[in-house]
Amino acid sequence: MAFYCSNCGKPIATDARHCPNCGHAVGGAFQGAQAVPPSSQRRLVRPRTGRLIAGVCQGVAVTYGWDPTLVRVVFVLLACFSGAGLVLYIVLWVAAPEEPLLLPTAASYPPPTNPQV
Ligand SMILES: [Zn+2]
Repeated sequence: MAFYCSNCGKPIATDARHCPNCGHAVGGAFQGAQAVPPSSQRRLVRPRTGRLIAGVCQGVAVTYGWDPTLVRVVFVLLACFSGAGLVLYIVLWVAAPEEPLLLPTAASYPPPTNPQV
């Protein structure tokens, strides 16, 4: 992936702080943009598919890239031994929004009014 100086448009190294061609400061912007991922990627939602109860374990597994079965086992073990798993599950059930419905594309929604038949 190549980066280009925003001042002169010539290609520069990704870790460069200043453009070697014109001396324009470029490093901070690139590092800042790449260090912070969009917050929407890590937002916990409860998926509508693959869930067993409310989708909390599935959502946690998808959000952090873990195995859903492993997350469920941990929740059950926590619930059995201390009750914390049950409390945590209910808290996440209430706090995490459900995954948005996959609506059809804009071509079919809203439905056409008074179609010419
Ligand atoms: Zn430059």
